[in-house]
Amino acid sequence: MSRLGVREWLAVGRVFANGTLLRTDDGLHTCLNFEKELAVYTGAGQALAVSSGTAALICALQACGIGPGDEVLVPAYTWMASAGAVLLVGAVPVLVEVDDTLCMDPDDLVAKITPRCRAVIPVHMLNRPCDMERIMPVAQQYGLQVIEDACQAVGVRYKGRFCGTIGDIGTFSFNQHKNMTCGEGGAVLSNTSGLMARARNAHDMGIGFRTAGVPDRDAIFLGSNYRISEIQGAILRVQLKKLPRRLSKTRSRVAILTKALKKAGYPVAPHNDPDEVAGLVLTFDTEAEAVKFAARRGARRIFDNSKHVYTEWGPILNRRMAHPGFSPWEWIGGSNGPAPDSCPKSLDLLRRSCAVNAMTDAPLPLVRYLARKLAA
Ligand SMILES: *Cc1c(COP(=O)(O)O)cnc(C)c1O
Repeated sequence: MSRLGVREWLAVGRVFANGTLLRTDDGLHTCLNFEKELAVYTGAGQALAVSSGTAALICALQACGIGPGDEVLVPAYTWMASAGAVLLVGAVPVLVEVDDTLCMDPDDLVAKITPRCRAVIPVHMLNRPCDMERIMPVAQQYGLQVIEDACQAVGVRYKGRFCGTIGDIGTFSFNQHKNMTCGEGGAVLSNTSGLMARARNAHDMGIGFRTAGVPDRDAIFLGSNYRISEIQGAILRVQLKKLPRRLSKTRSRVAILTKALKKAGYPVAPHNDPDEVAGLVLTFDTEAEAVKFAARRGARRIFDNSKHVYTEWGPILNRRMAHPGFSPWEWIGGSNGPAPDSCPKSLDLLRRSCAVNAMTDAPLPLVRYLARKLAA
């Protein structure tokens, strides 16, 4: 969770004073400026701000042309939206096991590919990047588009590149609990301008992007409305400026916690980029050890974190959509879709794993004290 302060308040005040809250009107172009700054910061060719991380996933899937008849590979451990967005565009998620980094297992990815799979959504969970060096070649070999879900890793790098800029298209979330926030928000990032044109179209009822002085083009396809307002844009511009310092605070605290726990012999889970650790996980030999550790201040067992483990995705496992006729599973013919026993290996790992709170906002002496207590 990121802190909001007087700078965000002043930035919102400027938007109020201007009086234009709709980004498509000729106001301060706050959203547009934010998108430019986000693209420069991450090195993505272009960025588009949208109303949530879920909206970003839907726009990214529509940008990639994913829909009925398609299957999309999604990890067994992620927020329900990663798989939910796939169904909302009419495709079916195929669950892939996570490995001991708690991100998508590249070996199981290969094993789960079906002839109908057209895309893969690697999810960088808990500020911990996926093994993109192995996932990207697999995707290339099997002709899969790569839609990175970096909602939980905004600003985190994998081997020098920002999560969300490595695949074909990437998504961020700016909800209250993410690395930067405007309450509710998200972004789509890509180096491919054709994909960004489609994502932009998807997020604005298919009007393309309405910029003052630029004539409307006819829509590529019918979109929806996932726009953000200038108020959110103003908050996000300030939050983006604060992000590097915030993440360096996270990393230094995670380093203190990791060192203390390793020294005491705790089983620290491996990380796909050891030079960029911004999230800490312990995986014990037994479930009982994890339950016991989770009772300590600053720790929680991953399995208890509902809706992030696929067995908790009620509407997906039970096939409850808004309308019974909207059934991507039936449209695909023969797809079983996610079932409770789809990923036993992940369930076992998640039951034995605890996430340790990064304590980003805690003063260093308190972090050192809590690290000692956690490692006791
Ligand atoms: C938060 C999150 C999302 C969705 O973001 P919202 O902004 O809440 O819609 C998607 N995927 C992951 C992994 C997330 O953590």
